[in-house]
Amino acid sequence: MSAPGNGPGNGEAWLEERLRPSLAQKLRIDKQLYRDKTEHQDLIVFEHQLYGRVMALDGIVQTTEADEFVYHEMMTHVPILAHGAATRVLIVGGGDGGMAEEALKHPLERLVQVEIDRTVVDIARAHLPSISGGAYDDPRMELLIADGARYVQETDERFDVVIVDSTDPVGPGEILFSREFYAGCKRCLTPGGIIVTQNGIPFFERYAVENTYRRLGTLFSDVSFFLAPVPAYIGGFMAFGWGTDNVALRSQPVELIAERFKVLGTKLRYYNPAIHQAAFAHPQFLVDILEALDRDAG
Ligand code: SAM
Repeated sequence: MSAPGNGPGNGEAWLEERLRPSLAQKLRIDKQLYRDKTEHQDLIVFEHQLYGRVMALDGIVQTTEADEFVYHEMMTHVPILAHGAATRVLIVGGGDGGMAEEALKHPLERLVQVEIDRTVVDIARAHLPSISGGAYDDPRMELLIADGARYVQETDERFDVVIVDSTDPVGPGEILFSREFYAGCKRCLTPGGIIVTQNGIPFFERYAVENTYRRLGTLFSDVSFFLAPVPAYIGGFMAFGWGTDNVALRSQPVELIAERFKVLGTKLRYYNPAIHQAAFAHPQFLVDILEALDRDAG
């Protein structure tokens, strides 16, 4: 990432994100728009030559104007169109508003978003308005500032789809990868409902896939992952966790998905029915990981 002649001493500022002790990416901060500690996290928003405006929490890139569409389109349209009759959706996390913006493209009756950090929402609305669009002003949406892990244990509401748009399993986001939290999400799902999760980069974060597969596997009849490359999340494609008791939903004919997609009446930038189906195809190393876990589980 580093172009020659930069770094300390030439006045340039860089965000250095450490993915692993021996692996990092650096993004030049071309113009810092906001930087402060919130009640929960260290938040920065800055302009970057290639990614446009970028938001990072605790030094980890969360979203960029240039590639957010990949992540947000896949985590919303795959579960909602696979379900086929979703009217109530829950988003846990998602402070930048990009997930809500995509979800509200569907004829939903109700969207609830439970985000722990008010400042993330306010700063994202102020400095990254293109990502949330008008989502936060949509009358179908209710934003709750609360810990998602507690909400799913206590709410009386039920949802057809739960989307876990969390930070990585560190800090306030750590509990959002626990079995206890997934069990709470299952409690909130209507029969045959679907949970999808932000699940890291399998090539470098194998443990994240293994943990989620085991934990969701004790709760749902059908557990798997769908994949998409998000350039700002280095290390190859990102994995999205999938859990449901309706085992037919993951392998529906592409023609049926295409019929449902037509209802949106809009063309998207990453998602289409063919990529929906293809995203559930796994490279051999991931097939091997999941088969080994199935064998261990006996
Ligand atoms: N796309 C990003 C990624 O893959 O890393 C995630 C983006 S979104 C900004 C993550 C959000 O999760 C943040 O706004 C953070 O405040 C929120 N969050 C973290 N822990 C939470 C919790 N326990 N309950 C609700 N929201 C939480």
